[in-house]
Amino acid sequence: MMITRFAPSPTGHLHIGGARTALFNYLLARGQGGRFILRIEDTDVQRSEEAYAAGILEAMTWLGLSWDGEPVRQSARTGLHREFVQRLLSEGAAYWCSCRPEDLEAQRKKALAEGGKPRYDGRCRELGLGPAPGSVVRFKGPQSGQAAWQDQIKGPISFDCQELDDLVLLRGDGQPTYNLAVVVDDLTMGVTHIIRGDDHVNNTPRQILLYRALGAEPPLFGHVPMILGKDKTRLSKRHGATSVLAYRDLGYLPQALVNYLVRLGWAHGDQEVFRLQELIEKFSLKHVGKSAAVFNDDKLNWLNAHYLKQTPPQELAALMWPLLAARGHAKPSDAFLAQAAAAVRERGKTLTELADKAEFFFEDLPALDPQGAARLLTDDGRELLDDFGRRLLAAWPAERGDFDELLKALAQDRGVKIGQAAQPLRLALTGQTASPGLFEIVETLGPEKVQRRLAAALAWRPA
Ligand code: GLU
Repeated sequence: MMITRFAPSPTGHLHIGGARTALFNYLLARGQGGRFILRIEDTDVQRSEEAYAAGILEAMTWLGLSWDGEPVRQSARTGLHREFVQRLLSEGAAYWCSCRPEDLEAQRKKALAEGGKPRYDGRCRELGLGPAPGSVVRFKGPQSGQAAWQDQIKGPISFDCQELDDLVLLRGDGQPTYNLAVVVDDLTMGVTHIIRGDDHVNNTPRQILLYRALGAEPPLFGHVPMILGKDKTRLSKRHGATSVLAYRDLGYLPQALVNYLVRLGWAHGDQEVFRLQELIEKFSLKHVGKSAAVFNDDKLNWLNAHYLKQTPPQELAALMWPLLAARGHAKPSDAFLAQAAAAVRERGKTLTELADKAEFFFEDLPALDPQGAARLLTDDGRELLDDFGRRLLAAWPAERGDFDELLKALAQDRGVKIGQAAQPLRLALTGQTASPGLFEIVETLGPEKVQRRLAAALAWRPA
């Protein structure tokens, strides 16, 4: 059975790159009826924070990337990691090293001065040292041969073992290192495919050698190219929002973000829009590109607008409501909310923009745009508005066709164009000169609110 995993370190928010890695692993496992494990790599006590771990789970849940079983805490497995170190020690595949940080620094400097790579020189390898306070355990790596693999994304990769110095497995304080812990965990959890960012390419040969030393077949590895900002430098905070929850808070839908993330590096012909279920069926590593992907806000916005338009009004209303509630509005009926959502559904790229566009529905009396008021609420304008209001309230409840007829007749009787005839009412009801369709607004607000807004606009006078 295919087993994949996502193994974030809780040292920061789940960002776009990590989320894409998680998504690829999720899709692979779900597409093969396999398992997808979430493992929080919280062994770096200094840098790990519980709030980040919680945030990662929240972001994964929001994206809909469900994992199998409980999330695994790497810190709960330290005992197991140490057992594996003992095993490597007893089999002669690891050794104690008593070099102090200052010795290592001197070795590094010397190697650099001799034109080599800064590295540990292996001086404790054959000394047969035992444990001592502050000593570390190192892997006794092979000094010749190759560590090679068929990368599932990048193709064949190989490193000369000579290039790799003896990796620390257990630190001076008894803590297992990342490379040891990750191998022990992946091995004991039966992970078959390790798909991760290509910042880990240099760790992979070391991990492969550890698998071999443990007499195990390494899993398959695939390294996903990084994500660049528009300026072709590595995507970072400088480029704007990078965390998944920041996108949620900006008003993006999880479907849009998932759809966007998968297209960062993966393609299926010219298709742009994919539902999660469709991705599960279609995703494969074969079509993940070898080169870095460039983050493009326009594309994300386009996808988000697409999914917003497709969201049924009631669902959209439920998504928009928290944003409006946060602005202090009182909760109206579900029907009112759904109608307001339907009216603005096609008018913005994010939930936040839709909430902005819908806000006038929820205000007691919308503030009138001063320029619009000065232009539209002249003596003539107010007369027109008053006339429109009377006709509208008399004809209530009007159907769309009746409303159009009424507007047409009004324009004709007053000798103005239909667009002109509608503007004062639009301003009175929304406070603005541009808005969703006037009939939708009238219908949503209902006669009492319409009347109140009309009266306020009619009472308006230039300052
Ligand atoms: N915990 C590592 C990280 O967040 C990932 C380890 C891995 O995927 O092997 O970079």
